[in-house]
Amino acid sequence: MKRLIKNGTIVEADGLRKADLVIEHGRICAPDPEPETEDNAEIIDASGCYVLPGGIDVHTHFNIDVGIARSCDDFFSGTRAAACGGTTTIVDHMGFGPAGCNLHHQLMTYHQAAAGKAVIDYSFHGVIQHVDDAILEEMASLVSDEGVSSFKFYLTYNHKLNDTDVLRTLARLGEIGALATVHPENDAAISFLREGLVAAGHTGPMDHARSRPLECEAGAVASVISLARLANDAPLYIVHLSNGLGLDYARLARRAGQSVWVETCTQYLLLDDRNYLREDALKFILSPPLRPHAELEKLWAGLADGSIDTVATDHCSFPYSQRQQMARGDFRCCPNGLPGVENRMQLLFSEGVMKKRISLPRFVELTSTLPAKLFGLWPQKGHLGTGADADIVIFDPRLSNTIRHADLHDNADYCPYEGMECQGVPVMTLSRGKIVARAGQFTGQAGAGRFLRRKPFDRALLARHRRIQSTQGDYS
Ligand code: MN
Ligand code: MN
Repeated sequence: MKRLIKNGTIVEADGLRKADLVIEHGRICAPDPEPETEDNAEIIDASGCYVLPGGIDVHTHFNIDVGIARSCDDFFSGTRAAACGGTTTIVDHMGFGPAGCNLHHQLMTYHQAAAGKAVIDYSFHGVIQHVDDAILEEMASLVSDEGVSSFKFYLTYNHKLNDTDVLRTLARLGEIGALATVHPENDAAISFLREGLVAAGHTGPMDHARSRPLECEAGAVASVISLARLANDAPLYIVHLSNGLGLDYARLARRAGQSVWVETCTQYLLLDDRNYLREDALKFILSPPLRPHAELEKLWAGLADGSIDTVATDHCSFPYSQRQQMARGDFRCCPNGLPGVENRMQLLFSEGVMKKRISLPRFVELTSTLPAKLFGLWPQKGHLGTGADADIVIFDPRLSNTIRHADLHDNADYCPYEGMECQGVPVMTLSRGKIVARAGQFTGQAGAGRFLRRKPFDRALLARHRRIQSTQGDYS
């Protein structure tokens, strides 16, 4: 049976239109000459609402083993929460595997973890934890045979790459049509600062932030951008950018025509480092840490002026109870990461669109269209044109609510945005034409989500976007 979404305002990255959407076989189809009626279609009335492409969150960590703990959301509870918040696709960053394992090892581990559980479509970013000739060779088969066309490497933590390996990785990924994503923080600077703090007995939550100030991140951003230029201009995607200095370095490179792409996350737009003074500060331990308040406006400016491309969550949840048990007064023992996959769409809608910091089309671009284009999901995902998957979120801008963890669908025991009031509520989510969430209730099914084989990075598609962006000026 067909579905018809009537009377809504359809929003895509290129603008708004008043139109009905016809859905059949899980896809958007062209309107029939014969209008749909209640006899031949299920009618969804979207009067007064915005009908948007479902959200694509390209930075989650479900079921991740971080060595000292495993996150509490698996591919069922994580995608269930995503669906209830209006997100219809996630691309998960795999965790590290056993030392020396190859790329396929983690891919197979993650396929097993997600199959039968995910309620919305999903994919994985490859993870590079060491570099040798065999790994460089193997990268190509992930792109062409497995549909994994992006990879992540780290400049800190146990499996950090040195500059030689970063250069070899970037050159190889550029050559095979993959997008390199990077966690940029200067490991030596963090170790230096951390040792000083610990020697002086400073191990509280605020010392976590003091041990990795924004210069640690921004310096690594500048460095890795330069390395990408030297590696035959390999495309580079900066994950979870948290500060204005790093953004300025990315802006400089983009102005010079370099293929550098920037993601920020909801928490860096809305939460600042004063949270580390709270009694429950352990709820906010993540890396990079929350920043001084002045950084937030710099990131909002980047959303408005087009220099940030995507907003993700880095959803990686550890219950507050577990954080307290493990930390025992030492930030080094607290697992890192925040939940938030269910809150991203609503928070950016409320704080961004309703407060007039970004336009509705820009909201769609940041949450769905550019994620799809950057990560090889376009044109199957990221818009509502004929032939696209019917992945849809309906927002009612007239409704408001207050975020309460009790109303959310993840497995954590808290929400970092508890008590925030939101204007605009996602009232329905459809995944390939099926209603997976309605009025805050989950209506989907474990295992309904499909693994998405992603296409290689498309330089021409993205270059076209960049030209449009530079002629449109700001979006406000
Ligand atoms: Mn990270
Ligand atoms: Mn992450």
